[in-house]
Amino acid sequence: METLLYCAFGGCTVSELDPRSLIFVAGLLGLLCSAILFMLRRSFPPSIGGLNEWSWGLSGMVVASGLFGMTGIIPDFFSIVLANAMLVGGIMYFYAGFRHFAGLPSRSRLLKTVLLLVIAHVAWFTYLTPHYPSRALLVTVTNAVLFFACTVLVYRTTGVTLAGRFTCLVFTGIGMVSAFRVGMLLLHFDAPTSVFGATPMQRIYLAALAFSVLAITLGAIMLANERLRAELEFIASHDPLTKVYSRSAFIDILTREIGRSARTGRPLALLMCDLDSFKSVNDRFGHAIGDRVIIDFAQRVQEVLRNIDCVGRYGGEEFVILLPDAPPRDAEEIARRICNHIATAAPDSALPHYTVSIGLAAAHDGSMEIDSLLSAADSALYCAKANGRNRVELAPLPDLQHQHSPPRRFAAA
Ligand code: GH3
Ligand code: MG
Ligand code: MG
Repeated sequence: METLLYCAFGGCTVSELDPRSLIFVAGLLGLLCSAILFMLRRSFPPSIGGLNEWSWGLSGMVVASGLFGMTGIIPDFFSIVLANAMLVGGIMYFYAGFRHFAGLPSRSRLLKTVLLLVIAHVAWFTYLTPHYPSRALLVTVTNAVLFFACTVLVYRTTGVTLAGRFTCLVFTGIGMVSAFRVGMLLLHFDAPTSVFGATPMQRIYLAALAFSVLAITLGAIMLANERLRAELEFIASHDPLTKVYSRSAFIDILTREIGRSARTGRPLALLMCDLDSFKSVNDRFGHAIGDRVIIDFAQRVQEVLRNIDCVGRYGGEEFVILLPDAPPRDAEEIARRICNHIATAAPDSALPHYTVSIGLAAAHDGSMEIDSLLSAADSALYCAKANGRNRVELAPLPDLQHQHSPPRRFAAA
């Protein structure tokens, strides 16, 4: 067994790992990590939840290490019952932190009930039937379940990212060590008499706990950083009011798509949309309702678009829509559907009835420059306004002219 559990780190064998030193190292690492997390909490916006719970969870584990380390020096209630409660409670806090990070409710009632059961169990096997392996068994089972629950949670929330994979790997590793310890305790292959019982499994378990404190903290910081980066990227590229692409981000996407269209010869179309008589909406109902109408348009327009289509706020109550892989006829059909959909009553009954005018510019082979495509769509929009609003006008592009001559008009109503 000893040979099997040979530890290659530093050329030492498992039997050279001293449980008391391992608990001390785990406590020190926990202290360092919780201090880092407590300091980092303030650097992240409140939208990134979990850091608070992770910091407190680590603090609980630090206190647990201190109490475990004083076994025999302080009363059993503190070094056994309270220490185990702090260890399990600390890991539970970590789990609650990952739930908060994922935007899920904390499940605090279930966690508190399990913690009380664990405390009762530990107290029973401390005072009524003193037996360390039985005590260790339930505590390790609870920890293993919590570690695996964290793995599943992190995988479901952020599994494909580097930070997500790393954190899952750490939780899976410590979960497997815990599960292995449970197996060893159940089959009586491992029978330590106290937390300092120097069995190989006990040493490996304590070493894994000490290592995981550091690794889980790193994973948590990486996850929070990844989320922060994603949020900043979103803020930089999206309009704050409507959450569709900002003008500059849309231009970037349009430039890329025009290039792709030029390479592949696939068609694309651009819709320029402007809400009709919007000044009077503001004048009659106020700016707040005007804002809600703008948001309503941004949301409802997406109900008739395909997944690959992309909406940007060009300014004020003007929006641009990119329709990749859409031949002119399909693009016209989509624009017509937008006009009709917007002209129906908004789901929010507080909003007034409003309509939109759309200018459509299409390019078959990507030969068109971005500026000419935008100005063609703008000219078509101007025509739509001049011809009565609530309608779609097609720009007289060279690649449309052979299909539609003279420029076609479509009234949505
Ligand atoms: P038209 O049918 O010709 O487009 O008439 P219009 O009244 O809509 O004219 P225009 O498009 O020039 O008017 C834009 C108005 O939209 C002017 C401005 O007060 C208002 N507006 C621009 N941005 C916002 C915004 O973010 N919120 C609100 N509430 N109003 C805005
Ligand atoms: Mg307008
Ligand atoms: Mg306008």
